[in-house]
Amino acid sequence: MNELQLYNTFTRKKERFSALEGRQVRMYSCGPTVYGHAHLGNMRPYVFADLLRRTLLWCGYEVKHVINITDVGHLTDDADAGEDKMELAARSLDLSAWDIAEKWTRVFKEDLEKLCVLEPHVWCKATDHIAEQIDMIRILEEKGFTYRARDGVYFDTTRDPEYGTLARLHLDAQQTQERIEASSHKRSPADFALWKLSPREVAKRQMEWDSPWGVGFPGWHIECSAMSSKYLGVPFDIHTGGVDHIPVHHTNEIAQSEAVFGVRPWVRFWMHNGWMMFDSGKMSKSGGGVVTLDDIEEMGIEPGAFRYFLLSAHYRQQITYSQDAIEGAQASLRRLRRHAAEARESDESIGAERVETYRGRFRDALTDDLNSPQALAVVWEVVRSSDLGGREKWALLVDFDRVLALGLESAGLDVPDVDEDAMRLIEEREAARADRDWARADEIRDRLLEMGIVLEDKPDGTRWRRA
Ligand code: AMP
Ligand code: ZN
Repeated sequence: MNELQLYNTFTRKKERFSALEGRQVRMYSCGPTVYGHAHLGNMRPYVFADLLRRTLLWCGYEVKHVINITDVGHLTDDADAGEDKMELAARSLDLSAWDIAEKWTRVFKEDLEKLCVLEPHVWCKATDHIAEQIDMIRILEEKGFTYRARDGVYFDTTRDPEYGTLARLHLDAQQTQERIEASSHKRSPADFALWKLSPREVAKRQMEWDSPWGVGFPGWHIECSAMSSKYLGVPFDIHTGGVDHIPVHHTNEIAQSEAVFGVRPWVRFWMHNGWMMFDSGKMSKSGGGVVTLDDIEEMGIEPGAFRYFLLSAHYRQQITYSQDAIEGAQASLRRLRRHAAEARESDESIGAERVETYRGRFRDALTDDLNSPQALAVVWEVVRSSDLGGREKWALLVDFDRVLALGLESAGLDVPDVDEDAMRLIEEREAARADRDWARADEIRDRLLEMGIVLEDKPDGTRWRRA
């Protein structure tokens, strides 16, 4: 069996993966800040983490996966300036921060399910772990890593000679970076908040707790250190997130965790997905102009097509979302399902001895740092090959879909009992729907009905049955 190679952001190299303990992998993924509807870019980290988790399972590992929910402490500026995103949303919508968090957490989980992302073993919320966060800050204080300022307690980065290694930060250069505009309360711009005191000059916060330092709320980074160590122990195998987390959030998680636990490295592999661009700009939840899974479903695109779109690029690549790209992904996925359905129905058996060659190539792709575009290319070779029978193709597709999760197996259940003409019409109607030509789509539906075929449009595609 091949070795699994994964790119470790910490070393900037692909490294051979092995679990810290036997075949058990412990992984943590930074979760969403639940102040609004996660957009398509926000979903990329979880499809990536799911690809990683499914690949590990496919390679024979067991995985314990934790995803957190950030429902307090994430400020509008990652460098401790600005306002808490939850409190800001609550004020502008005149709703309770707790209700907002609950609503968007629920929607986020539903979106993950639609994308066939396996549910983590542990979901954990920052507001459920205030005591654990306070305990960590207390230890940091006892060890001399903190100082108190007028507005809270800060981590003193000068106490950590390794600070910034993950991001290759050089503190002197960093001083000039715009992102860390000095807060008047910090001794150094790189220092970061562990506990913020509730500001007295503005409206009372909805989310605040008592602490040894006064009433306030935790800084954003400490939640991930506290919850990952609680559920996964120290050290653990893999920590994932978007590339934007490298210079601030993950850098700070490392500094505070290594200071508390005295373990270096605190995490064996750091893995980050590339950014998803939208049209000509960056997609951001706070910046508006974003597209959600609901939006594409309204356009007749299934969530699975978005998963296909993401898998067709390497997770570390920057990708650009466009209408054309998502429609192309939808069309490819339909074709692939059609091939899968045909293979399922076939009783032809040819080339059984070549099955392992194809499986080996699929494995080569995945174990090379999760090369999903290459893995998809192998899938297409399989469905188009003339040296494999339907049975061999079906067996391979079912196996590959344990990782790809594109619904290939269930596509087989929809296999049509309709003739070629009807099938052509069904496909033509799908194309019309993709073009939003509703009149043509309805016309074809009526024609099919006359032929005794009933269509049903489901979120994951069109089904048909005999009337
Ligand atoms: P947030 O809810 O803002 O905390 O973001 C949740 C996750 O989405 C983080 O891991 C971000 O790195 C990631 N993320 C946000 N926007 C994008 C994007 N446009 N492309 C890829 N990842 C993103
Ligand atoms: Zn985090």
